[in-house]
Amino acid sequence: MSYVGAGKSDGVPVVDLRSDTVTRPCDAMRAAMASAPVGDDVYFDDPSVNALQDYAADLLGKEAALFMTSGTQSNLVAMLAQCQRGEEVLCGAEYHVFIDEAGGASVLGGVMFAPMPMTANGGLDPDVISRTVKPDDEHCPISRMLTLENSWHGQVQTLAEINAAAQCGKAHGLVVHLDGARMMNAVVKLGVTPAQMVAEADTVSVCLSKGLGAPVGTILAGPKSVIKRAHRIRKLVGGGMRQAGILAAAGLFALQNNIDRLAEDHENALRLSERLADIPGLGVDPAAVQTNMVFVDFPEGSGIPLGKHLAKKGMLIVAGSDHVRLVTHRDCGIDQLDQLVAEIAAFYA
Ligand SMILES: *Cc1c(COP(=O)(O)O)cnc(C)c1O
Repeated sequence: MSYVGAGKSDGVPVVDLRSDTVTRPCDAMRAAMASAPVGDDVYFDDPSVNALQDYAADLLGKEAALFMTSGTQSNLVAMLAQCQRGEEVLCGAEYHVFIDEAGGASVLGGVMFAPMPMTANGGLDPDVISRTVKPDDEHCPISRMLTLENSWHGQVQTLAEINAAAQCGKAHGLVVHLDGARMMNAVVKLGVTPAQMVAEADTVSVCLSKGLGAPVGTILAGPKSVIKRAHRIRKLVGGGMRQAGILAAAGLFALQNNIDRLAEDHENALRLSERLADIPGLGVDPAAVQTNMVFVDFPEGSGIPLGKHLAKKGMLIVAGSDHVRLVTHRDCGIDQLDQLVAEIAAFYA
């Protein structure tokens, strides 16, 4: 999708709701990056990486944390650090680890996935987990890990739901990993602390590069023994970085400054959904908006042409079909969202 020249003269789109990954570092974050002390992190020498890892471990209430290149790498390393060939990871059938990470744990680690049906808000029912755990039988793979995901498609599972699933997994002897790529959105929505959210999970992965606004990076946190193995496996998958403090400084800035403000993204998503619901013919339910995602059903066959029309105006959405996900974030204000709504209304007028 080409938009350069259609938006502002610097090629930055007027509004980009394809994802919250499109956020650019703000001036204060760039200043923190520019002045970050650095060293060679492969020798554990980078003070900014160490500061981020210590801060994140503390924030998440875990013994240790590791700075990863991406959420995909973080989930992969969490699985490879804790699962052997022939072992399986139980997860939701529509979880990112299963459908959006190129099957990395299977490709690289001989780890199987056991996808399970999910509840309406993307959670996992303890009964379903219990039924999916394999017996100690030579015919079966060895169930080793349960992976949870919160938030899932913008939907939030409560602490009670997350804890019930995690406790069920543990009762069956599984290690529990939370793919918390966007867990800070759930934390803000529920008004709980990050440590409360992950109290029952052994390991957790948190993306710094989505709504939190850092350019790159994810945190993997958990017990010291697991993080030590994760460190070796991160090296194995090419994630040993050198003066990574430049990036870690952005991540630390994100954790220190950009969590609470996610509430604004949630308010903007709600407002966007309400405005869109006023346009005749569009299927959108404001009551379903919990965090920073709005799902819209455009009239049949119109999604792709709408996407092309908007792109010419420098307004970006992922319109590969009539069912479209719109994601709000720190780089789209109310004015730009209102411009987008006006453009969509005009398209269907
Ligand atoms: C984005 C995302 C990831 C992967 O993060 P990348 O940094 O894009 O690799 C993993 N899990 C979930 C739920 C995500 O939304």
